Amino acid sequence: MTDPRPAYGAAELGDFMPGGAMAPAPDERVDVTGLSIAALSDLFAAMGEPAFRAKQLYKWIYVRGARDFAEMTDLSKTLRAKLEDGFRVGRPGVSAHQRSTDGTEKWLFRYADGNEAETVFIPDDERGTLCVSSQVGCSLTCSFCHTGTQRLVRNLTPGDIVGQFMKARDDLGDWERSDAGRRLTNIVFMGMGEPLYNTDNVIAALRLLGDGNGLGMGRRRITLSTSGVVPELRRIGEALAPQLAISLHAVTDELRNELVPINRKYPIAELMRAVRDYPTLKNAQRVTWEYVMLDGVNDSDADARALVRLIEGIPSKINLIPFNPWPGSAYERSSDERIRRFSRIIMDAGYASPVRTPRGQDILAACGQLKSESQRVGKRERLAMEAMRQEKEAAAGL
Ligand code: SAH
Ligand code: SF4
Repeated sequence: MTDPRPAYGAAELGDFMPGGAMAPAPDERVDVTGLSIAALSDLFAAMGEPAFRAKQLYKWIYVRGARDFAEMTDLSKTLRAKLEDGFRVGRPGVSAHQRSTDGTEKWLFRYADGNEAETVFIPDDERGTLCVSSQVGCSLTCSFCHTGTQRLVRNLTPGDIVGQFMKARDDLGDWERSDAGRRLTNIVFMGMGEPLYNTDNVIAALRLLGDGNGLGMGRRRITLSTSGVVPELRRIGEALAPQLAISLHAVTDELRNELVPINRKYPIAELMRAVRDYPTLKNAQRVTWEYVMLDGVNDSDADARALVRLIEGIPSKINLIPFNPWPGSAYERSSDERIRRFSRIIMDAGYASPVRTPRGQDILAACGQLKSESQRVGKRERLAMEAMRQEKEAAAGL
């Protein structure tokens, strides 16, 4: 079997590995990646070790990126040997690692149970953003999203989520760099899955990522994108309150019901109320509204004006995302001219309205193109996809 995805001119950094030929050997030891300081302290207490030892280990794992207990020279030799026997500092396996002609990198990570999820690194002039996945597949069915055609396989654990970040830091050589020199500076939850349908694990991962005594990413450099799971917005706001990105995509309930079906459960008015209550807004931090530009569907001047009215009074940035097609998708991307006019109306109303340049398209790494299992889509598959969509919506109670 070969990787059926197109790789036009893409440099393969690692081979696609069917059946996990190069997956890590099964390891019965407990993986400490993803454990909080409290969990490590409990583990150490059970071993009769004092809590400050757990702090030392935490620092090795999350500040220095150490993988090998032998390196941890401030722990006694006996403790290192005990750790070596019972534990490991894990990383997800890599099924494929590709680099786009524009410098974007994409990993297809493979977890111990064989499930896979994608992570994308997008280098820019002054920042480097890692786009992480929160679920394998997605239980929602946004009609323009590739991940939406895949059923939800499972939630990612805190270790699975921070594992994507830590493995990216390994591969980018970032552990050795000082904070100021790091290539990876920002993280966005915009990969596969709906993070607020996996809120507990996402909160645990956010706490690890944001810990100034650990991975040290800082709340302002973490953005969570959601399709609008209203009750969970409150919880995430009370926990770490990362920067918020809302996948709006339409300004009427009628159209949003079709594009983002969770809207049937939490319509626009409720979503706007929850966003207005989000804690970062009180410090005048901006919310990002994501708006995919679909030709002839949601991209008229009237839509732009209605959008401006909808967000009135909310400190906002509107991120226009030209639709990224995928095999079997039913939409066309709006023309550049249309996107420019739409953006102009929003800017004239006083909001920033950057157009997101699609990145890594040659390796299917752009927004909405992620899917762990690629497939060629013909008519039969398209019908099957539609049946799947209906089945998923019924299961999600939409
Ligand atoms: N589930 C979350 C986060 C992942 S999707 C959410 O929906 O917000 C990340 C962003 O990519 C969302 O704004 C999503 O609507 C957008 N997106 C999905 N498919 C796309 C496509 N084909 N083209 C452009 N953007 C897309
Ligand atoms: Fe899921 Fe987000 Fe895609 Fe909708 S846009 S199907 S919520 S990943």
